[in-house]
Amino acid sequence: MSTGTLTIDLNAIVANWHALAKLAQVEAGAVIKADAYGLGVDRVGRHLAAAGARQFFVAVAEEGVALRRAIGSGPSISVFSGHMAGDADMIAGANLTPLINSVDQMLHHVESLPGHPFGLQLDTGMNRLGMEPAEWSALRDIALAQNPTLLMSHLACADERDHPMNEQQRMVFEDMTEGLDIPRSLSATGGTLLGEAYHYDMVRPGIGLYGGLPFVDAVPVVTLDLPVVQVRDVLAGETVGYANAWSAKVNSRIATVSGGYADGLLRAMGPNAKFHHNDIAVPVVGRISMDLITVDVTALPQAPSSLQLIGMNQSVDTAADFAGTIGYEILTSLGSRYKRVWLE
Ligand SMILES: *Cc1c(COP(=O)(O)O)cnc(C)c1O
Repeated sequence: MSTGTLTIDLNAIVANWHALAKLAQVEAGAVIKADAYGLGVDRVGRHLAAAGARQFFVAVAEEGVALRRAIGSGPSISVFSGHMAGDADMIAGANLTPLINSVDQMLHHVESLPGHPFGLQLDTGMNRLGMEPAEWSALRDIALAQNPTLLMSHLACADERDHPMNEQQRMVFEDMTEGLDIPRSLSATGGTLLGEAYHYDMVRPGIGLYGGLPFVDAVPVVTLDLPVVQVRDVLAGETVGYANAWSAKVNSRIATVSGGYADGLLRAMGPNAKFHHNDIAVPVVGRISMDLITVDVTALPQAPSSLQLIGMNQSVDTAADFAGTIGYEILTSLGSRYKRVWLE
C-alpha cells in the first residue's frame, strides 16, 4: 500500500462535543461544513447524531443535502449561506433551515417557500454575513412575524480571549436581539471558551470537535501516517530533491515518503516541517513535491517503514505552524488519496 493513512477517531469527536457542551451548559450544535472539516461528513454526522447531536450547521445547501442523506430526518440542519437563488428545492427536499442573511434572501424565502422554517443571521461587526443593524431595524417586524427559529451572529476575534472586539460584538448582539423570545446563538469554538455571557441558547463549535485550537483541552482526533517508499544513504555534499534545495552536510540517510502537496501537505511547510517515528522527530529536507516528501532519518536506529506527520507527538496545529497557517486549513486541505480509517 503506497498511500498515506488518515485515521479519524470518531469517539474523540464525540468526546470533544460533550466537553464543549458541558463547558457551555447549553445545547451544543455541531458545525460540519466542508465535509466535516475534511474528515467525512457521513461518518462524522452519523456518529454525532447517534451520540445525541440535534443541531447541525453547514455552509451551503448542497452540503445540507449530503448530510441529510447521512443522518436521516430528525436533527435540524442549518445553512450559513442562507437561501440562495436556486436553493428552494434542496431546502424543501432535505428540510434544511436557511439562516437568512439579507432582506433579499428574506423576500426570496417567503415567496418561494412560505411557512418553511428559517433562522436569521445578524452582522455584529464582522462584515461577512448577516443583516447589519440598520437593515435589521427595517426588516425586523416583518421577519419576526414569520417566526424565525434562531437569531445568530459570528465573532471575528474569539480565538483571542482579550480582544476588545469580542465584547463589542456581544453588546451589538444584545442590542439587536434584546427582548425577543427567540433562541440565540453567538459562539463558535472560540466564543464557547470565552465564558457564560457568550453562550446564549446554543453554541456552534466546529474546529474544537475535530481536535483543533483554540480548544486547548481537545482530545486529538486525527492521525496521519505516510509510508516510506525508499530509503537511501547520501554522502556529505550530495543534494536532495528539486532545485537542489538541500545538501547534506554530513553523510545522511534519506527516507522518501508517499504524500505531497497534492495531498494537502502544503509546499510552504517544507523548510520547517518534521515527521515523527515513535518519539523521534525527523526533519523534512528539500522541497515538498506533488506526491513525495524527503525526510532526513539519520537519527533513527533503523530504516522506518512509515513516518507520522500528525498524531500523539505533533498536532494538526503543529503541522499548521510549519506552513504558517491554521489547523482549519490543514484539515480541509487533506486530499482524497489517503486511505481514511474511522475508529468507532
Ligand atoms: C465555521 C463557523 C462556525 C464554527 O467555527 P469554529 O471556529 O470551527 O468552531 C460557527 N459559526 C459560523 C457562522 C461559522 O462560519
